[in-house]
Amino acid sequence: MAFDYDLFVIGGGSGGVRAARVASETGAKVALAEEYRMGGTCVIRGCVPKKLMVFASEYSEHARDAADYGWDITAGAFDWSKFRPRMRAELDRLESIYRTNVGKAGVDVFDTRATVADPHTVALATGQTVTAKHILIATGGRPFLPSETPGIELAMTSNDVFLMDDLPKKILIVGGGYIACEFACIFNGLGVETTQFYRGAQILRGFDDEARGHLAELIRGRGVNLHVGTDVQRMEERDGGIWVKASDGSEDVYDKVLYATGRKPNTADLGLEEAGVKLGRWGQIEVDEYSQTSVPSIFAVGDVTDRVNLTPVAIREGAAFVETVFKGNPTTVDHKDIPSAIFTQPEYGAVGLTEEEAREQEEIEVYCAAFRPMQGSFIGREERVLFKLIVSRASRKVLGCHIIAPGAGELIQFAGVAVKMGATKEDFDRTVAVHPTMSEEIVLMKQPVRTA
Ligand code: NDP
Repeated sequence: MAFDYDLFVIGGGSGGVRAARVASETGAKVALAEEYRMGGTCVIRGCVPKKLMVFASEYSEHARDAADYGWDITAGAFDWSKFRPRMRAELDRLESIYRTNVGKAGVDVFDTRATVADPHTVALATGQTVTAKHILIATGGRPFLPSETPGIELAMTSNDVFLMDDLPKKILIVGGGYIACEFACIFNGLGVETTQFYRGAQILRGFDDEARGHLAELIRGRGVNLHVGTDVQRMEERDGGIWVKASDGSEDVYDKVLYATGRKPNTADLGLEEAGVKLGRWGQIEVDEYSQTSVPSIFAVGDVTDRVNLTPVAIREGAAFVETVFKGNPTTVDHKDIPSAIFTQPEYGAVGLTEEEAREQEEIEVYCAAFRPMQGSFIGREERVLFKLIVSRASRKVLGCHIIAPGAGELIQFAGVAVKMGATKEDFDRTVAVHPTMSEEIVLMKQPVRTA
């Protein structure tokens, strides 16, 4: 049977664009549909604009430090109206690069919503239908809001942050995950009075317990009014703002309330179940290790599959799909020991196991150093960085590395290589320190702080 295309990709984010581009380079006839803007969550309303806001928000601290170092500097107020057009122009530039690159690769782009009509047919919102030998779903995720909370319609999500006309003076952030913690630090750094509510006992569930506690203290130390064990009970429009009644009985009025309470896969109304594609409990597309769904002609990559929801992982899954299906080289993605960073202030970079996970698995030694780095201690800053290694007693391999420090996102990339290679504690010890740096501590920790 002749199809219009060899591959039709639904979703122009990181995973979809990579798959479309490399599939097209093999000579396959490829089309891609995107209903919003090319680049997806990462480029348009996620990692990229978030990181630009992180940079912007760090200057308040830099300015204070510079003054303490002897510079004649006073940090004025942050001007959102100056920053926002620059940020938007950068996103426009990146979107156009994405569009140009898929175009150059020979991919036909449809700027419209597409749904699955049957295992080989895609229906476009324009009324057109297109057939394809393979369909790849790469529709990502969207913010989840708890609909049962009274007044939830007053809240905004991370999608709205980058579109705000004005910077709020006072904000409440709800959640204790990546997005909530990052935005709490961003708004705080921009000079916004910032409160964060997290319903559980400690932020960043799933990360290393010691690191979570350490980071929570630093976030508080920087000025975020962080409340754990606290949730929103109800919200109402009052006094020109949003009145919030909290589960601890307190009440306050905020200019904005930002909910960062997780993300859900974008699978609603895509025609997937009707076509026979099996979805999981949270609406995620169930796939095998080759990203193939329960319908053999339909594959899925990235956040819509809810495996490891990170841009570089979606890109790898997209590339592995093309290797498997278009290059005859069955390829899986290794989801183990993926380094990641939370862009809080300071940052938290992690790779491998947490101490708690490692203890469950085998006997371990824990090496940990928490200290005031030279740059801060010189000007009397109390903030301590944290370097932590979790080591297998049997194999001596470093099973996990956790770093909380300025630039930890950059450091963990390199620690990630060592952990992925299976480096032992003795390999770290054999490596000569780079002096004077903070990170030299990672090769200088001689005695375990505990064994288990
Ligand atoms: P997370 O799943 O990381 O965190 C969600 C948070 O919301 C948790 O603290 C959760 O609490 C809380 N929560 C969930 N439901 C409710 C509710 N009904 N009421 C109150 N609180 C609730 O999601 P994020 O949105 O922060 O991030 C989504 C994903 O995006 C991440 O998992 C990550 O993969 C990716 N990401 C990565 C970044 C990076 O690499 N730097 C940056 C941003 C996002 P509890 O712990 O109790 O469940």
